[in-house]
This record gives sequence, C-alpha cells and structure tokens, in this order.
Amino acid sequence: MAAVLHIVIAGGGIGGLSAALALAQAGHRVTVCEATAQLRPLGVGINLLPHAVAVLDGLGLLPALRGMGVETSALVFANRHGQPIFEDRRGVSAGYSHPQLSVHRGQLQMLLWDEAVRRLGSEQVRSGARVTGCAQEEGKEGQDGQEGGAIAHIACADGTTEALRCDVLIGADGIHSALRRQFYPDEGAPRWNGMMMWRGTTLARPFLDGRTMVQAGHRRAKFVVYPIAPPAADGTQLINWIADRRLREDGFGGGLTAPDRADWSRPGSVADLLPTFGHWRFAWLDVPGVIRDATQILEWPMVDRDPLPRWRHGRVTLLGDAAHPMYPIGSNGATQAILDARGLADALSAHPTNPVAALDAYEAQRLPMTARIVALNRQEGLDAILDMVEERAPDGFARIDDVMDPAVLARCVQEYKAAAGHSQTAPPQSP
Ligand SMILES: Cc1cc2nc3c(=O)[nH]c(=O)nc-3n(C[C@H](O)[C@H](O)[C@H](O)COP(=O)(O)OP(=O)(O)OC[C@H]3O[C@@H](n4cnc5c(N)ncnc54)[C@H](O)[C@@H]3O)c2cc1C
Repeated sequence: MAAVLHIVIAGGGIGGLSAALALAQAGHRVTVCEATAQLRPLGVGINLLPHAVAVLDGLGLLPALRGMGVETSALVFANRHGQPIFEDRRGVSAGYSHPQLSVHRGQLQMLLWDEAVRRLGSEQVRSGARVTGCAQEEGKEGQDGQEGGAIAHIACADGTTEALRCDVLIGADGIHSALRRQFYPDEGAPRWNGMMMWRGTTLARPFLDGRTMVQAGHRRAKFVVYPIAPPAADGTQLINWIADRRLREDGFGGGLTAPDRADWSRPGSVADLLPTFGHWRFAWLDVPGVIRDATQILEWPMVDRDPLPRWRHGRVTLLGDAAHPMYPIGSNGATQAILDARGLADALSAHPTNPVAALDAYEAQRLPMTARIVALNRQEGLDAILDMVEERAPDGFARIDDVMDPAVLARCVQEYKAAAGHSQTAPPQSP
C-alpha cells in the first residue's frame, strides 16, 4: 500500500507550488514554507510550453490559465529590422495536445498559491517561513536499508525558529537556494554571460495576430515580445517585452561576475535602452514606443549555474531553479520546474514504499534533461538562428531563402525542441 508521506517544500514559487499540488493530488501531506511574508504578484511575463500546460491541466488548472493568459499561435524569429526569418507554429493547431500559454508570472504564482491554500489548507501553505538549512533525522539512518527522515530548519517572520520533521524535504527555493548552498557550500555566485535583460510590460495595440511571440535581433542586442493577457475593452493588450543588451563578452558559457546580485525586483530605466533600440521601428511594432510607454521595467543579469552532480542528499532533493537555474531562453524556466513537479510526484507513486529510490528515480529522469538544456542555452539555444542571419545579411534581405536554407532553420528548431522535451503528437495543420 502507498505510504502517505509528510513532504515539506521550501519555496512557494511556480516550481514549489506545482509540486505541492501534484503531491497533494497523489495523497501526500504537504507543507509549503515560503520565505516572503506577504506574497505579491511579482515579475512580468512567463511562457508555459505545452508539456507544462498538460501538467497543470492534470491539476485542474487549465480553465483558469486560459482565462488569464494568451494562447501563443507562433514563435517568429526576425532580424533587427523586423523582417521574419522563420515561423515556428505553436499550440494545438501545430500538433500539440495542449496550448502554449503566455501569462503574467505573478498572476500564475497567485493562482497556484490560492489553489494550494484551498486544497492543502491555509495552515499548510505558510508565508514568512524561510528554510535556512536542513538535517537528516538522527538515529534512523540505516534502518531497513533506508535513510531516516529530514528536518527543515525554519526562520519565521515573527523572529522565532522551528525544526520541522518530514519524510521528504524539497528545496524549491530558487536560484539562491539555501539548501543547495548547504550541499554545495563552495559553489559561489551564479555565472553571468555578459548579457543584461530589461523586462517590461506595456499596454499597447495588439501586434500581428495578437497571439504571436517574436524574437528579433542578434546576440549583442535582442528584443523579445509577446502578449500576456487577452485584449481589454479599449482594444489594448498587455504586452511583455525583454530587451537584451550584451554589456560584456564572456566567450560562451558564462563565468563572469554578475554586476549585482540577481534580483528580480530591481527597477530598470528607459534611458539604458533607447541608444540601442531607439531606431528599431518595425512595420508591425514600434519598439522604442513600446519601451517608452512601459508600465514597469525590471533589470536582471542573464545568469545560470553549472549542472550539479546530484540533487538528492538523504531525504532532501532540489527542484526548479534551485536544481537547474538556466538562461531564460526557449521558455524553459517555469516549464522545466513544472515538469520536475510532475516527475517527482510520479516517482513517489512508482516507489510507494521507498522514498529514497523515488528521489533517485526522479533525479535520473530530470537531471540529465535539464543539464542538457542549461548547456544548449549557453550556446544561445534557438537564438543561434538570429546570429547566423545577422552575420550573413546585416542590412536585411529581399528573400530569407537567399540567406539561409529553410530546411536548416527547421532542423535547428526541431533539434532544440526535441532536447527540451517538446512532444508534438500530430503534424502541424495547414494555416
Ligand atoms: C520575484 C520573482 C520574479 C520573477 N519574475 C520572472 C519573470 O518576470 N519572468 C520570468 O521568466 N521569470 C521570472 N522569475 C523566475 C521564474 O519564476 C523561475 O525561473 C521559474 O518559474 C522556476 O521557478 P522556481 O519555483 O523554481 O523558482 P522561483 O520562481 O525563484 O521561486 C522560488 C521561491 O522560493 C522562495 N524562497 C527563496 N528562498 C527561500 C528559502 N530559503 N525558504 C523558503 N522560500 C524561499 C522565493 O521567495 C520564491 O517564492 C521570477 C522569480 C522571482 C522569485
């Protein structure tokens, strides 16, 4: 018979909350400990690939997600003149079982939080509870071939501390994970690739079909733009954009010291962007206009960490950005965290009497795949297409076929998607 485990999750971000819902659905008793005392809908846009949307659908969240976001119809690569290079269709009509969804990250987190409170009970979804470290439970190690439980050390917002015993502890506490630091104390700061990202949201008229995501430019300057909410009554739409500028050359693979601690709440400025993007006026989008009209701009260095040799230490494992922080390329940050959540819950169901074997099975499934994506993203992932075109036709082109063989472009896209675990169940339908 399946054992009901008490599972503590450090971190109430998208990964931790998805895991909480998946584990509760499997019948486990789950406690979420989130460091933030008062959760607010922070961040800007985030993309969920179809295989992550399928996981959230399995948790009963698809109707709510559809209501808050945009079903992405296509990902278009363009040069810095706005000329389309390649269109990769997305969503159900492209042969996926589920849509790709572009949503506001903060709204997604609040949806998951509210659902966790509803399903787990408010006392099990704790804010103002920072996990500072852990211990393996003493005295039980070695019994029936398994290690004992884990103890989460918690610093509460009211100044008290607590030691919470559990059967499994999951570190879903983000890129600055305290649990990861405990296991790898010499790892140091995240690695920077010299790229700074300014992320903003702007209310604007819809562009193209109102559902397309575009990546335009090249490795030194890139503008990514996609809508994240249905059009409002006045015809405007909330548009998410990311303006990337390379401030330093790292070669490839990161390793520079980031200018500041990676902090999602640091405000950015229009003045940093207009010298680079001020003349990027496309037939279908006025980029400087979108930047100037921003309702908020956040600044963030593009950082990641080297893949780890292992995630499990006794009854403790890692998940999401704590396990595999990666450059935000290819819409994989939240997607891979959600896939971790599913993988962990499935592994615990497949090994109902042996949590340690379950954590090993989860790690065997998820660590190699996410390490591959970290490596691919260090080589710029799909954005490598943009560099090839910029190199060959810096002033634009009359026909993209004169610059790049469309079959080569299609192959690059398919290879990346296969490595990132996309699964198209049917060939794309004709538009
Ligand atoms: C405030 C914020 C804003 C973001 N905005 C964007 C965005 O606009 N676009 C985008 O693509 N990505 C954004 N991200 C990153 C994105 O959410 C993640 O890359 C991805 O969703 C994986 O999620 P995660 O749950 O693994 O990590 P995170 O989303 O980083 O969540 C980690 C959670 O753990 C909490 N935490 C940290 N340390 C501890 C601790 N010691 N104990 C307990 N809790 C702890 C954090 O407060 C956070 O809620 C943001 C992350 C954060 C934290």
